[in-house]
Amino acid sequence: MDASRRRWVNLAVISGAATAAPRAFAQGGPAHVDEADEQAVALGYKHDATKVDAARFPKHDAKQHCANCSFFQGNPTDAWAGCAMFGRKHIAAAGWCNAWNKAP
Ligand code: SF4
Repeated sequence: MDASRRRWVNLAVISGAATAAPRAFAQGGPAHVDEADEQAVALGYKHDATKVDAARFPKHDAKQHCANCSFFQGNPTDAWAGCAMFGRKHIAAAGWCNAWNKAP
């Protein structure tokens, strides 16, 4: 391989590596909370608010879900977003946990 072709191949490899990492993050995004995580179990978190254990959490109301909770950190149309209760992991807009607090 001549020098100019080798230089072109090196540039192609470097530029591919530089764009692969941000693209991978954008496609995957933050991890979702696992309902089996210790914090999720403690708070009774479910991805689907209709699956909340009514016997354990009698205060849960069918109109309550993460997207209308004051701790929800996403936009109204986001299916998943951050929550103050779960650090960097995302929760489902349709979810619920026992820390639910009506958004203002
Ligand atoms: S605190 Fe609110 S937004 Fe966070 S998981 Fe519980 S109900 Fe959902």
